[in-house]
This record gives sequence, structure tokens and C-alpha cells, in this order.
Amino acid sequence: DLLVVGSANADLVIGVERRPAAGETVLGGDLAVHPGGKGANQAVAAARLGAATALLARVGDDGHGRLLLDSLRTAGVDTVGVLVGGAPTGVALITVDPSGDNSIVVSPGANSRLTPGDVRAATSLFQASRVVSAQLEIPLETVVEVVRALAPGSRFVLNPSPPRELPVEVLAACDPLIVNEHEARVVLGDACVSEDPADWARLLLAKGPRSVVVTLGAQGALVCDRSGVTRVPSVRVEAVDTTGAGDAFTAALAWKLGTGAAPAEAAAYGARVGAAAVTRRGAQQSYPTAAEVEAL
Ligand code: ADP
Repeated sequence: DLLVVGSANADLVIGVERRPAAGETVLGGDLAVHPGGKGANQAVAAARLGAATALLARVGDDGHGRLLLDSLRTAGVDTVGVLVGGAPTGVALITVDPSGDNSIVVSPGANSRLTPGDVRAATSLFQASRVVSAQLEIPLETVVEVVRALAPGSRFVLNPSPPRELPVEVLAACDPLIVNEHEARVVLGDACVSEDPADWARLLLAKGPRSVVVTLGAQGALVCDRSGVTRVPSVRVEAVDTTGAGDAFTAALAWKLGTGAAPAEAAAYGARVGAAAVTRRGAQQSYPTAAEVEAL
């Protein structure tokens, strides 16, 4: 089974002609409210593919929390690990201008209250999981506790987003560490001495993870472990909205690894799922079923 540990947010989206300046009010279009957050996105993506998936997360005791729980349950995610209360549900306030550029304010809310103690209290979820997948929209000390809570033989997958430097203990557990170009640059920091993504993969591997995946949007992805760098092609599609593509890629790859697939094979499947996700609008509502991935 797959356990995702991470964030759940309500994305509140308003189209505007232009962004307001300080002290100014502008009128926008109708509000759209979407279930989001990288943890919830990954859990929904995996469950849509047919993976037995649980989410460990925290939402508020409010309407946004209920919206998220509803979306997770509709997709078939096990929500016993979705804790309720402590702060309002995390929210992303998103304005989109006519050119498609976003301005986003995130209020982490309940996500920032997902504690190491919450991880320790979820032992049965960890015992039942072959693969555990995390991101960084929850406190870093909680992610450190996730690494410590892994059951023997289970595998840890991390997408360090939003990116920051990572403790050695977390890096050493990653199999793989999954980064896009921006995340690769931040995690490498001063060690980012090349413009070649294959070099980033090798430099990241030297920081301690057992394997590394670098995603390259329409260019596909690179898989890197001690045996070298393997290029995974993307699937050519008509991209409509890339929101949540990385989350879909990661979820699909994590699940496939848990079924025993080789890393390059799992990444190729992730690339197909990511490609399917960019052909539709939104994040969770854009995620394909296994049959839709087959048909791609
Ligand atoms: P992120 O969303 O984290 O920035 P990427 O943009 O690299 O991540 O996308 C993740 C994966 O989704 C890519 O490795 C690729 O397989 C797939 N993907 C993303 N954008 C496209 C696209 N325009 N066409 C085909 N596949 C895509």
C-alpha cells in the first residue's frame, strides 16, 4: 500500500484583469474552490490509478476541510489518517490575470500543525505501507519523523517542494528524491555548478539519496542511481494546464515502485500519468484512471 504524508489545501481562485496595488480594490470573476495541496493531490492521483492509498494530513474543522475529505473519499483514499482541527484548513489564495500569470498567498493553517507526534501516533499506517511519499508543505521536523517511522523494508519517496536544504538524515532515506529543475537548483545550493540536468542528478545523488529523479516537464525525466543516468521520454500531448503534473508523476512512480517495478519503468509510468494530467484543467480533477493512462 501507498502512504502519502503531506498537505491538504483549498485552492481559492479568482480571475482578475490586473492585480491590485497596495490599498487598492479590484473586482474579479466568480470564485472557484478546488481541493489541492501536494499531499492530497498525490493521494488522489494514486487512488485514481487504483492504488490502495492512505493520507496522513491535517485539515481544519471547517467547510474547506470537508471539501477535501469529500474529494479524497470520492477518489477512494483511506482517510483515517486525515486529522481534523487545531487550525483552519490550509488555503491558497490565487489570482490569475488574463495572461495566465498567478499571484498566490498560501496560509498553511492546519498543515503547519501536523506534528512529529501525529506521525508517531500513525504507526499502523506505516506498518501497512510498502512506500511512503512526502513533500515539504508540512513542517520539516514532521518529515524527519516520517523517515524515522518507516517500517523495515519500506521505501521513502520525497518531492522537496517548496524546496529548501535538507538534513542528511532525510536525504539518505530518499529512494528516490524527486525534483523539478527549480527544486534541483535549491536543494543543490552552492553545489549547482552545471546547467546540465544529468549533472544535477549526479550531484544530488552525491548528497546521499539512494536514487534521484529529475523531472523536465515536456522533456520527460531523468532517473539516476549508482548504475548511472537513464533518460525517460515524455509522452507528446496537447498541454492545457500543468497544475499538479509533478504530484501526479510522483504518486504514480511511488505506487509503481511499491509493486516491484524497476525505477526507470516506474518513472516511465509516472511520465504517462503526468502527461495525461496536463491534458485537462485543474489538479485533482485532471488525474487519469489506469484505463485512461492505457489509452494515452
Ligand atoms: P512540476 O509540475 O513539479 O514542475 P514537471 O513540470 O517536470 O513537474 O512535470 C512532471 C512530469 O509530468 C514530467 O516529468 C512529465 O513526465 C510530465 N509532464 C509535465 N508537463 C508535460 C507536458 N507539457 N507534456 C508531456 N508531459 C508533461
